[in-house]
Amino acid sequence: MHVEGRDDHDQVAFRDDAAIVVRDGLIESVTAAADVVGLPAAERIDARGQAALPGLINCHTHAPMVALRGIAEDLPTEAWFDDVIWPVESNLTARDVEWGARLACAEMIRGGVTCFADHYFAMDAVAAVVEECGIRAHLGQAFFSSQGPEGRERSLEFALRHRGGAGGRITTALAPHAPYTVDDADLAATAELAREHGLPVHLHAAENRDQTAAGLARHGVTPIEVLERTGILGTDVLIAHGTGVVERDLPVLERAGGRVAVASAPRGYLKFAWPTTTPVRALRAAGVPVGLATDGAASNNSLDVWESMALTALVQKSAEGDPRWMTSRQALHHATLQSARAVGLDGVVGSLAAGHRADIVLVDLTGPHTQPVHDLAATLVHSARASDVRTTIVDGRVLMRDRELLTLDVASTVRELGKRLPALLDRGHGRRVQRYDAE
Ligand SMILES: [Zn+2]
Repeated sequence: MHVEGRDDHDQVAFRDDAAIVVRDGLIESVTAAADVVGLPAAERIDARGQAALPGLINCHTHAPMVALRGIAEDLPTEAWFDDVIWPVESNLTARDVEWGARLACAEMIRGGVTCFADHYFAMDAVAAVVEECGIRAHLGQAFFSSQGPEGRERSLEFALRHRGGAGGRITTALAPHAPYTVDDADLAATAELAREHGLPVHLHAAENRDQTAAGLARHGVTPIEVLERTGILGTDVLIAHGTGVVERDLPVLERAGGRVAVASAPRGYLKFAWPTTTPVRALRAAGVPVGLATDGAASNNSLDVWESMALTALVQKSAEGDPRWMTSRQALHHATLQSARAVGLDGVVGSLAAGHRADIVLVDLTGPHTQPVHDLAATLVHSARASDVRTTIVDGRVLMRDRELLTLDVASTVRELGKRLPALLDRGHGRRVQRYDAE
């Protein structure tokens, strides 16, 4: 059985008894299992009882923040940033980032994630881990205006140097933090650099309704309108969260003409008790794809994109008061094709179709919690779990086989990261990398 993304009517297609032929990292063909019986192959994976899906894509995260999982619990957004996260991040070293990225990649590969969009500091270390472990990534070096023009220049230098890295598995973006930490002049300069160098932009914006309200009260504009007037919406831009997108933003986003995508990570919104979620249905009407994400593990507690898929489907039903939105098939469409579009990889990944990169996960459906299968989409979204992923393949290379990671060692990673935690978590110095002052 396999799932193939299709772009018509938000639908996905399924096929029984399928075989996927992979050659040189690409899907060469998708055919009937009976057709490949005598085909010579360097390797054959028997996946009877399993479903093959395009690998999941984590469209917005801060992978190394797994080191901070659970250090700032049950706090409002401002206290989370100002009292814990930003003081701790003033201690951050490239080695912390490197070991954190290893743990994060292990978690993601185990959960069927084959690509992640990362937005953090010391990103050379993340790029090195991506190269080493075989996953795919869309990377951006984050910056604040408080760093001066050097922040933006370093983000550009990183994006140019790593673009096409790791045998083409790394793509890059310019990564201003957010409109409330990067001023208009800096955003406008970023948009100019994006155009000049053909780079996309990845940033947080309209994260919650308070940020939108603060923007309107202080400057008379919403964060989305700030992105328009600074030229950011004229670039290929990936916006994290957008739970503060309001009615007047929708025509603005529609005018951007398909260059905008949004990443939704609903667990964190629930945890911070934000009053709204990403308005996926309204964004769809405005022609904006919405990819699935986890955000960092310091707010989300996991990098489980499978859970984001289930939560997105549930939260959307609740927010819209409509059990017919979003359906399991729509949730799968977001998890596959729309997520690929969000990270600029449409036509490259996100579908098990000939000519796409062979980023494939095999999901065991034989467990008691997934049987019987009356509706495959519902089984995948609402019954299966990340731990049902048995095999994870990126670019035709097996990174996890029968739940065993082949390119990363979790025990040594946890040990090395653990040695670094006392220095990383020290807040006795009273410094912080930034202050939260929404808009
Ligand atoms: Zn984020």
